[in-house]
Parts: sequence; C-alpha cells; structure tokens
Amino acid sequence: MAEQEKTPVFMKDSLIEIVGEDAMKREFPPQLLVRKKSEKILAKLMGECAECHKRKEKSKMVSITARTKRGGKTNAFAYMCKPCFVKWCKEHGVNVPQLEGLEDK
Ligand SMILES: [Zn+2]
Repeated sequence: MAEQEKTPVFMKDSLIEIVGEDAMKREFPPQLLVRKKSEKILAKLMGECAECHKRKEKSKMVSITARTKRGGKTNAFAYMCKPCFVKWCKEHGVNVPQLEGLEDK
C-alpha cells in the first residue's frame, strides 16, 4: 500500500490569536486514528478460551456468563471456543445448545 496521503495539519490553540478561529485546521492522520481505535477495539474483542487458552474473537466464542445478583446484570467471566464448549457439554452431560454464528475455525 503506497497511497498518496495529504499531509494532515494540526494547529495548536496558541495559533488562534495569530490565524484566527476560522483559519484553524485540526486534521489528524486518518491512518493513525484508525490504527489506535482498532487496536483498542481488538483487545476488547479478543478473548481467551478457558479450555485450550487459544485467543480468538469473543464473537466467535461462547461466553460463560454469571449473574451476581438476582435481576442484576449478567457478566461474561469466561469464554470458550466452540469445539471446547461442545466437548465440555458432552463431558458434563449437558445438551449442546444451538450455536448460531459460531464458526469452527
Ligand atoms: Zn478452546
């Protein structure tokens, strides 16, 4: 990727007096923002399987949730990848629930 990017301009507040409010430019490099955001989001999206300890996207795993209070919020405290979850269910005599959208990858 060798895209020709326009150089972003960011003026400090101290320049307001010199160039005036209307002339202020506050542009950030788009790549920088995107990278920062996706790293943060990615860290949030990734989870570790409680069984095999593989790291995967939480959306592709089964979340193990618990309700600490009656009527309280459910919190996901652990995640399991689908194969581990299915295995766990079978080992514990639990019927494997429908796991739509979870891929076996
Ligand atoms: Zn696993």
